[in-house]
Amino acid sequence: MTDGNGFKVTAICVKSVDYNESDKIVTLCSVENGKVTAKLKGVNKISSKLKYAGQPFCFGEYSLVGKGGKYIICECKQIESFSELAKDLKNYYAGFAVLKVLSDFSAENVSNPTLTLYAVKALKAIAYDGMKPTRAFNKFVYHALAELGFRLDFNVCAVCGKKLDEAYFSVGDGIVCASCGSVFKNRVPSDVLRCMQNDMSGDDITQNNTALFLKDIAAELLGIKIAIPE
Ligand SMILES: [Zn+2]
Repeated sequence: MTDGNGFKVTAICVKSVDYNESDKIVTLCSVENGKVTAKLKGVNKISSKLKYAGQPFCFGEYSLVGKGGKYIICECKQIESFSELAKDLKNYYAGFAVLKVLSDFSAENVSNPTLTLYAVKALKAIAYDGMKPTRAFNKFVYHALAELGFRLDFNVCAVCGKKLDEAYFSVGDGIVCASCGSVFKNRVPSDVLRCMQNDMSGDDITQNNTALFLKDIAAELLGIKIAIPE
């Protein structure tokens, strides 16, 4: 990114709030530069041609101008709008939960391409592939944790390598067997363990329990309280 000149980022809009009479402040999570906040001028006017660029879920190539953290969106080539998500309330909420986690896990000027692209992949799975929304959310959170350095293996104990049919989560060691890790470890619920070991498949209750479990470990590992789909 160069100061003072125009630049482009491939990004998804995760949030936008009204600003002044006709502007919006848009939060983007970009492949190239992590989280970027930019102004969309005159977007609340009827004549605005860039309304779509300030809609959450808009994924595209954004052209920005400005410097020192003050940027203006001057163009956006939309790649995907994910408008299909709005047709089903459960899908829509899960989509927002994905955007929220993406935003919470992203930082300014920290490029993490796979984080953004995994979020887009999860949204595609929900909107077009008929994947259960909570399952897509869980897959995203699991991959996102791995991208941030917390790669959790639910098949074998992180300490002794034993195959796991019962597992515990320990902040210092990850996923361990009954004999390993610290005394302060929490048992992974058995349905959650099965879900994790089988490419995150399971019924609605299991998906929900898995989301709750991921929420707990994100709080312990990152200190971030994530919102899970309703
Ligand atoms: Zn062990």
